[in-house]
Amino acid sequence: MRSYILMISAALVIAVTGFVVGKGYLNVGDTAKNTISALESQEAMAEQKGPQKWSSTKPYPSHEAYYPGTEELGPDEMRVIACGTGMPQPRLKQAAACYLVELGNGDKFIFDMGEGSYERLMALGIPLDQLNKVFLGHLHLDHAGDFPAFYFTGPVNNRLTPVRLWGPSGVKPEWGTKAWADYMVKMWAWEAATRGAAVDPRGLKLEVNEFDWTAVNNVIYDENGVQVRTMPAIHGEQSVSFVLEWNGLKFAFSSDTLPTKWWAEHAKGVDLSIHECFIPPEMMMARYGFTPQEAIFVGTQGHTAAQAFGKIMEQTKPVRAVCYHFQNDFDTSLAVYSAIRETYSGPLDLATDFMTWNVTKDGVRTRMAVPNHDSFPAPVQMVKQPPDSAAEFPFGELDRESIDVPAAEVTNEVIKKFNKDHGTDIVPAYTGTINEPKK
Ligand SMILES: [Zn+2]
Ligand SMILES: [Zn+2]
Repeated sequence: MRSYILMISAALVIAVTGFVVGKGYLNVGDTAKNTISALESQEAMAEQKGPQKWSSTKPYPSHEAYYPGTEELGPDEMRVIACGTGMPQPRLKQAAACYLVELGNGDKFIFDMGEGSYERLMALGIPLDQLNKVFLGHLHLDHAGDFPAFYFTGPVNNRLTPVRLWGPSGVKPEWGTKAWADYMVKMWAWEAATRGAAVDPRGLKLEVNEFDWTAVNNVIYDENGVQVRTMPAIHGEQSVSFVLEWNGLKFAFSSDTLPTKWWAEHAKGVDLSIHECFIPPEMMMARYGFTPQEAIFVGTQGHTAAQAFGKIMEQTKPVRAVCYHFQNDFDTSLAVYSAIRETYSGPLDLATDFMTWNVTKDGVRTRMAVPNHDSFPAPVQMVKQPPDSAAEFPFGELDRESIDVPAAEVTNEVIKKFNKDHGTDIVPAYTGTINEPKK
């Protein structure tokens, strides 16, 4: 029940405080060592210190919330933020699968990028130049659907560095990640051309690293003291699960899978173990209109039943287990929680979007992030270059004929004033043509 209570209390904190630029006053290093939950750490604090006298004008001494951009990551610390925990069925509260891993060495990694997750990432205020590494466990839309938007709109969100993508090989070559990325670039050809012609296009470069999905404990990334390894997942062939290891800390992410013997072996004892888990089949029938056959197949064969999630966690005993991939509400969470507790009694969080984990050798601390609902792109990280002059932003005769002259004249006045105010000499590419002779 603790995680459930924590979720409610975290939601209340968010509801009450809104977006506040504050500071985290609890450090994992001092008061919250080996926490099972933030709730317990508060209880422990109360036991150790008794009631604290709070100033009525200074910041509160503790916030059980994470305000993105306000806490330095320790040199030995890992921070993981859920940027998507839900289902393919879109909903405001939960995007589809996406986890951001930030390390104390400055590296950041994105694991899966399901529909809706891009806006969660942007709400954290992290410059896109620092979010250039994406790992896809499989190519379902609820795990990869926001990658095209992330990639192609990067340049208008101040990304000036290429994107690096890792994904599985295909059972058929045309199903693999290389082909997927190739089709994506072809599908968005007009987008790429016009976007690249309008702003600095250097962020529109893609490095695709396709790896063998069948390899076990396969190192696919080994840089700067960080290793990412994959193992086969059972979710239609060519799916994988991941383990990231750095500085003695381990993060495991299942993407989608039935529990595998590989997970039992290679995710054993990890610090943060994030594995998918579904609501009971009866609930899937009631909520999604599934037939019994559909509910059993999707909920227990294509995915992990909650009791099976508990069983794999009981076998692997992570420092903290996290289940995700269900619509986490007041009633579904109780059903999932009680099913997991039939087979697992260890530390557990039922993930929802913006749940945040600080991982150190001392333990795992769970909080809810308070995101910025009014985010703008983070500032550029390097000097901008002009748009690609060779790129096409087509403007033809029909466009010229279509211009509304009175509105264009007003626009030209705006630009004239802008040039006067800023000492520039910018010629309006389209509206500047209204006085040119027609061809
Ligand atoms: Zn899937
Ligand atoms: Zn999925």
